[in-house]
Amino acid sequence: MFAGTMRRMRQVLFVTGGAVLAVTVIVGLFALNQANQEQLELTSRLQSRSQVLADSLAESIEPSYNTKATSTVQRVIDRFVSSERLAGLGVFDNSGIAVAVSEDIPLPEDARFITDVMDSDEPQGAFVRRDGETYYTFVLPLHENERVVGALAVVQNATYIDESIGTIWRDNLIRLLFQVIVFAGAIFVLVRWVFHRSISKMVKSLQSVRKGEKSDTVSGSSFFEPLAGEISKVTKSLHQARHSASEEARMRLEKIDSPWTAERLKEFIKAYLKDRPIFVLSNGEPYVNAKVKNKIEWRVPAGGVVTAIEPVMEACGGTWIAYGSGDADKETADAEGKLKVPPDEPKYTLKRVWLTPQEVKGYYNGFSNDALWPLCHMAHVRPQFRKEDWLEYRKVNGLFAKTFLEEVRHVERPIVLVQDYHLALVPALIKKSRPDAQVAMFWHIPWPSAAQFNICPWRKELLEGMLGADLIGFHTQQYCNNFMDTVANEVESRIDLEHFSVFHDDHQTFAKPFPVSIAYPGSAEATEGPDPDVLENLGIRSKNLLLGVDRLDYIKGIPERFRGLEFLLDAYPQYRGKVTLLQIASPTRGSLDKYGEYANLVAAETERINGKFGTREWKPIVLERRSYSHAELRDLYQLADVCLVTSLHDGMNLVAKEFAAARGDEAGVLVLSQFAGASRDLKGALLINPYSAEETSAALHTALTMPKTEQHKRMKMMRTSVRDYNIYRWSAELIKTLSQLG
Ligand code: UDP
Repeated sequence: MFAGTMRRMRQVLFVTGGAVLAVTVIVGLFALNQANQEQLELTSRLQSRSQVLADSLAESIEPSYNTKATSTVQRVIDRFVSSERLAGLGVFDNSGIAVAVSEDIPLPEDARFITDVMDSDEPQGAFVRRDGETYYTFVLPLHENERVVGALAVVQNATYIDESIGTIWRDNLIRLLFQVIVFAGAIFVLVRWVFHRSISKMVKSLQSVRKGEKSDTVSGSSFFEPLAGEISKVTKSLHQARHSASEEARMRLEKIDSPWTAERLKEFIKAYLKDRPIFVLSNGEPYVNAKVKNKIEWRVPAGGVVTAIEPVMEACGGTWIAYGSGDADKETADAEGKLKVPPDEPKYTLKRVWLTPQEVKGYYNGFSNDALWPLCHMAHVRPQFRKEDWLEYRKVNGLFAKTFLEEVRHVERPIVLVQDYHLALVPALIKKSRPDAQVAMFWHIPWPSAAQFNICPWRKELLEGMLGADLIGFHTQQYCNNFMDTVANEVESRIDLEHFSVFHDDHQTFAKPFPVSIAYPGSAEATEGPDPDVLENLGIRSKNLLLGVDRLDYIKGIPERFRGLEFLLDAYPQYRGKVTLLQIASPTRGSLDKYGEYANLVAAETERINGKFGTREWKPIVLERRSYSHAELRDLYQLADVCLVTSLHDGMNLVAKEFAAARGDEAGVLVLSQFAGASRDLKGALLINPYSAEETSAALHTALTMPKTEQHKRMKMMRTSVRDYNIYRWSAELIKTLSQLG
C-alpha cells in the first residue's frame, strides 16, 4: 500500500519535473535571444556614437598634429575628455607611440591593436575590461595628405551594457521562477487530483465488478466516461461468461463423472454449506511477505500443504489462520494480523498468528520437525523427543485454538479444516469450547505402524487431541489402518471397523482416505509452451533432461537418486555426455542440524559424481539450491524427458502429479518411489525402490528408451487420474463427508 503510494507520488513528481524542465528550457532560450539582441543594439549604438565623436575630434586635432603642436593636441584632449565625459582619449604616432593621452586611458592589452588599425586604414573598436569596468576603445586613423600618420583612440565606459544584460537575465529568472511555481502547481494538481483520482476511481470500480461485488457498470469521472463505457461492455460479457460457467457447474454438480473445477467447487460449497464460512488452520501460510532491498515482496513458500489448500480457499473464500513467518508480515497485515490474499486478486482472508522465537524453536523446529516428522516417515532418522519442545508444542496449539475460537465467536456451527501434524492437539481444544463446530483434521504425512508410533512419550495426548475431530483424513487406506491400530493400542475407546470410526469420551471420530491432489484442470496446468532459454541459461545442453524437484529434505532420497544415476552411467556408458539430471533443491528447515548435514551431503555427492564422470562440456548433475516458483517449475516439467521422484517415504508427493499435469503433449516418463503415496494414484509411472541404485538405474534406462506411443499411454493414464481426483474433488469430498456427519 505504502509502496504503491510512493510509486504514484514518484510518477506525479516525474511528470511535474518534466514540465518544469521544458518551461525552463523555453524561457532560457527566450532570455538568451533577448540578451543577444540587446547586446547587439547597445554595442551598435556605442560604436556609431564613438565614430561621430572620433570624426569630429579628428577634425580638431589633425591640423595641430600635423604641425607637431603636441601641447595643443594635449589641451584639446583634456578639454574633450571632461566636456564629453569620456573615459579616455589618446593620439598616437604612426609607430603606435602615445603623442598625447588623457590620464589612465584604458587600452586593449594587445599593443598591436592601434598599429593594426593604422596598417589597415580602417577604424576599429574593441572592448577592454579593467578593475571590474568595461570600456569601449574606438581607434580612428589620422591622415595627412591622405597618408596615415597616426591614430586617435576614443574610449567610452560600456559597463552600462553589461548591467543592462544582467537586468534582462535577472528579470527573466524571476519570471521563470514564477512560471515554474504556477506550472508545477497546476500540473501537480491536474495529475494528482484529476488523472490519478479518476483512474483510481475507475480501477476500484473495475475491481469490485471483477470480484462480483457490483453490477457490470464501471464508473469513472466525466473525463474518462468514454473509456469507462467501453470497459463496462467488456465486464458485462465477462459477467455473462461467469454466470453461464456457474450455471453449467451447478448443473454438473451431481454428475460425478464430469471433472471438478474451481467453479464447480464454489457451487457445491454454496449448495452444501449454504452461507457457512470455511476456516483453515495450518502452521505454514500461503503468502510470506519479506523485505528485499528495502522493498516488501511476497512469495508462495514451497510445500505440498500450500499447493493443495490455496486453490480451495481461492474457490471458496473464508479465513486461513497460519503462523506469520515473514520479516515483513506484520507490516502488511492489519492490527488483527489480517490481510486479503492473493495479493494480486484478493479472494479470502489470511489471519496471521504471531509466535516468539522460543515458540518457533520448541513447537516448530523441535517437536514438529525433529520429533513428529521423523517419527511418521520411515527415513531412518531418529526422532528427538525433548520435554521443553513438547511444552511449547502444547502452548502453540493452544494459541491456534484460541485464535480460531475468537474468530468464530459469532459464527454458528463453524466448519474448520485443521491441517497437518503441527496442530494435532487443536481439534480437541476446539471441541471442548465449541461442541457445535464441525472439525476435520487432515494428516498430510504418513501415519506409521502402531509399534513405531509407540516410541513417542506423548502419544496418548497426541491421539486424544486428534480424536476431538469429527473426521480425520489421510492420503491412503493404509495410513487409516495404521491410525486405527495405534488408537486401539493407546486410547481407551471403542473401534468400529465397519465404519472406520472411534468412540472416545462420548464422541465419534471417523478416519477416511482422501488422497490429496493439485489444481488440474486449473492453475497447475501448463497453458503455454516452455521458455526455450531456461536450459541454456543453466548451461545444460545434453540430449536428455532428467528432473528432480524437492525441498532439501532427507525423506526425498536425493543422494539415493544420484547413486541411481551413477549406476546408470557406469552400466550404460553410452549415456555419458547425453543425460543431465537437473535437481531443484529448495532450502528448508535450515536451523535444524540434520537438514544442514543433508544439504552438505547432497552437495558433496553432486561434486563426487560430477568429478567422476564430468567433462569440460558436460556435467551429469546440475544442482540448483534455491526455491523455484510454480511458473518456473512448469517450464522445467515440460522440458524434462524423465521426472524422478525417489522419496524414501512420502505422504503423497505433489511434484509427481504436477509433472503429469504440465505434460499437455502426453510425453515424458515419471520414475516414482513405491514409498510415496502418489504411487497408489499414478498407475502410469515406473515404480522403483529408491534404496536400490540398480532398480533406479534400470527404470531410467527403460524411461530413456521408451517408445513415444508407450509414453503417451502411460502419461494419459496419469493425467486422467490427476484430473479425475483433483484438489477440488478432494476438498468437496472432505467437506461433504464432514457436513454429513451430523
Ligand atoms: N515447490 C516449489 N518450489 C520448489 C520446490 C518445490 O514451489 O523449488 C513446490 C512443488 O511444486 C510442490 C510442493 O512444493 O507443489 C512440494 O510438495 P510435495 O507434496 O511434493 O512435497 P512436500 O514439500 O510437501 O513434502
